[in-house]
Amino acid sequence: MPKCIFCSITDRSVATELIYEDEYVVAFHDVKPVAPIHILVVPRVHIENVADLGHDSDGVMTQLTRVANQIARQFDIKTAGYRLVVNSGSDGGQTVPHLHMHLLGGHRLPELAR
Ligand code: AMP
Ligand code: ZN
Repeated sequence: MPKCIFCSITDRSVATELIYEDEYVVAFHDVKPVAPIHILVVPRVHIENVADLGHDSDGVMTQLTRVANQIARQFDIKTAGYRLVVNSGSDGGQTVPHLHMHLLGGHRLPELAR
């Protein structure tokens, strides 16, 4: 099986400009942005999606949220607001099977479909 693209980015075997990195999390610009600011926040550990989080991965979503909030401050969109999105599975619109959080902002985002 080909290696997961986000594992390749987090282990640096695929060169991508990182906006943030620490021992657990990396962040980089989405290659197909749907908002002026569209950043992906990704755990280094390969967990397929949010539905696969177990007791051994307690804290992962908190780490992703903390880093996304920090980047939102860095990009000066804390006051204007932003959206954090986690897609899970095919009906959820997930296309890369490695857990990640989208940070979207920089303009007024469209209402969610009802
Ligand atoms: P999702 O549809 O929630 O799984 O989101 C996956 C996102 O990853 C999409 O918005 C893609 O544009 C983005 N993406 C896929 N490959 C790359 C890559 N190599 N570098 C940056 N973003 C990527
Ligand atoms: Zn992976």
